[in-house]
Amino acid sequence: MELTRRQEIMAMLRDGEWTLDDLARNFVVPKKVIIDDLEHIARTVTRPSRLLIHPPTCDDCGYRFKDRARFSDPSRCPLCKNEHLAPQRFRIV
Ligand SMILES: [Zn+2]
Repeated sequence: MELTRRQEIMAMLRDGEWTLDDLARNFVVPKKVIIDDLEHIARTVTRPSRLLIHPPTCDDCGYRFKDRARFSDPSRCPLCKNEHLAPQRFRIV
């Protein structure tokens, strides 16, 4: 049986931690597609497993985004306006 992309993403997330860029590159699809997949996965992953989001952080001032409801990466830091942010990472635990 062939795995769907979402099933493959779930398998990857169980194995390690990945960014949107990692996943988009791996499956050769736009990040928007991966965001849709992650939203779907977050809803369908069954307890006791869950999709864990390591929040993005600012490389400059260390600002840590928290409680973000969105899966897209923020474009810049709200404190220092730096645009070089460490992207959020996803995994399933
Ligand atoms: Zn900052």
